[in-house]
Amino acid sequence: MTELLFRDDGYLRSCAARVAGADGQGIRLDRTVFYPTGGGQPGDSGVLRLRSGETIAIVDAVKGDTLDEVVHVPVAGAALPEPGVEVNAEIDWERRHRLMRMHTCLHLLCSIVPGAVTGGQVSDGRGRLDFDVPGSSLDKEGLAARLNALIAEAHPVGPRWITDDELAAQPELIRTMSVKPPTGMGRVRLMEVPGVDLQPCGGTHVRNTAEIGPIAVTKIENKGKQNRRVIIAFAD
Ligand SMILES: [Zn+2]
Repeated sequence: MTELLFRDDGYLRSCAARVAGADGQGIRLDRTVFYPTGGGQPGDSGVLRLRSGETIAIVDAVKGDTLDEVVHVPVAGAALPEPGVEVNAEIDWERRHRLMRMHTCLHLLCSIVPGAVTGGQVSDGRGRLDFDVPGSSLDKEGLAARLNALIAEAHPVGPRWITDDELAAQPELIRTMSVKPPTGMGRVRLMEVPGVDLQPCGGTHVRNTAEIGPIAVTKIENKGKQNRRVIIAFAD
């Protein structure tokens, strides 16, 4: 089990940790700031810095066998550290911050398009959501204007925890059909933009919508009878 520090503070760039194990899959730490791929958000890259001064480049982070385990994937050919070794785990913050901005923006997009979300993906500088909406009711300029207004209004963004049972009693909170909410630990984390969006999410977000910066809707694709893919990108 890994202590998931990014879950309480998405702004942590590094942490001291101890190697719990290392094998062909990657390196496990007792605690980490690396977000593992999941919920449409890519895993972090970065570096593990050893006391000796040596560094191990981490190219990806993925979930392990259990719910609370993160596997840090080292660059090919890297020498694996021994269990017990102390390291400083440091993420590529510039990239992570762009992912946080885009991820948070997808929550805003979700809030202004009615209909179930059937898929989604955050990538560096871009993001997309697929909606189950009929016809061609979405327009690029209109969506972009509403998104940029929500961004400029500087809404606070924060977590709220509820129990698995409370979530089960409010299934309407689940907007994204393709991503299962992170239940099974007794409690579920909701991501809230008060008055705008509230839904289960285990990803990392910025603290305020203003931090997202201006965006553009680059494309609306027709991906089938009731499936519209909205692709957004940073405008700056
Ligand atoms: Zn989220």
